[in-house]
Amino acid sequence: MTVPGSAAIWTMPDFDEHERVEVIHDRASGLTAIVALHSTHLGPGAGGTRFWHYPQPLAAVRDALRLSRGMSYKNALAGLPLGGGKAVVLLDEQRTKTPEMLAAFGDAIEALGGAYVTAEDVGASEADMEAIHQRTEHVCGLPVAEGQAGGDPGPYTAQGIFFGIKAAVAHRLGRADMDGVHVAVQGCGSVGGGVARLLAGEGARVTLADIDRTKAEALAVELGGNCVPTEQIMQVACDVFSPNALGAILDDASIPQLDCAIVAGGANNQLARAEHGEMLRERGILYAPDYVINAGGIINVGLEYLARRAGETCSASTVMERIGGIARKLTAIWEESERSGTGAHEVADRMAREAIGRGE
Ligand code: NAD
Repeated sequence: MTVPGSAAIWTMPDFDEHERVEVIHDRASGLTAIVALHSTHLGPGAGGTRFWHYPQPLAAVRDALRLSRGMSYKNALAGLPLGGGKAVVLLDEQRTKTPEMLAAFGDAIEALGGAYVTAEDVGASEADMEAIHQRTEHVCGLPVAEGQAGGDPGPYTAQGIFFGIKAAVAHRLGRADMDGVHVAVQGCGSVGGGVARLLAGEGARVTLADIDRTKAEALAVELGGNCVPTEQIMQVACDVFSPNALGAILDDASIPQLDCAIVAGGANNQLARAEHGEMLRERGILYAPDYVINAGGIINVGLEYLARRAGETCSASTVMERIGGIARKLTAIWEESERSGTGAHEVADRMAREAIGRGE
């Protein structure tokens, strides 16, 4: 029988050999959630939970699958002994999130026996992680003491992107310092704001844009940079364009208008489609694959989790050392891209698939 408009999960293009997809429904609390585990080859599937209202239910499944595969690749190239997983909690239009729902969700994670480890994603807070932690150990991104791994991943993500931008500037521009290097930053939130501050701290010139114009202007004043309207940031003549807001911004329309040597930023899923990575290469623009450069946050909370499970603690300085590896990994990807004549995004995907035992 054919059911119009529906597809079995395992026939969806985003399924990509997921090991497991669990749909959780708890009648008492009204919780509906999906947990997708793409690969546990390297360890428990780790990735955050997105709390979101999906007007189209299939979009929730697609999101869970796409994000979970992304975490497999991200964790593998970050060198973490963690696989890839992701959860989405389907909220109503009012985005109602109750303590009972969080408790039921914690129980559901506990029932997976450690195959999935959760953390914050869009719509989640450290307080939500603490509530989930009341029911299961398999959660990270919990508030921690000063100097210890864990807590808000944003600053660590920004630090990794900063290291990645410096590596790109060294690789493409042959520069060992950031003095006067011009970086156009799209998005001045937790990640973009952190990146801009680190850049300005080492003498880079920053041009900023945010849909919240007041936020961008305040940051420009703080850092001695300047501001442009959001619709102009991708056309700014600069050394580095750093996307730190939305996904799917690199497409047929925007790539020809870029006026930079490097694209390196933290937004997830920057390429509208895989072929846009090749388009960047053809334009001679060095691209830092998003899931490689933005791994600082998961390195932080992943090490927090692994240490806690081993009855140990992990220091923030150890996290920083591991985040330094992002620059080395990116350089290896760019060298292989140049050697093989394939886009950096393709090289990264191939390395990630090999690391999770799914190489050609
Ligand atoms: P955030 O909400 O703190 O900041 C996002 C900022 O982008 C906001 O200031 C918002 O006003 C601005 N923005 C939204 N649309 C914009 C547009 N069209 N043009 C310019 N600015 C716009 O979020 P964040 O935590 O900084 O995350 C930013 C990106 O990095 C997201 O794509 C996120 O998925 C990705 N990311 C974040 C982390 C992390 O640790 N926070 C880790 C990996 C990836």
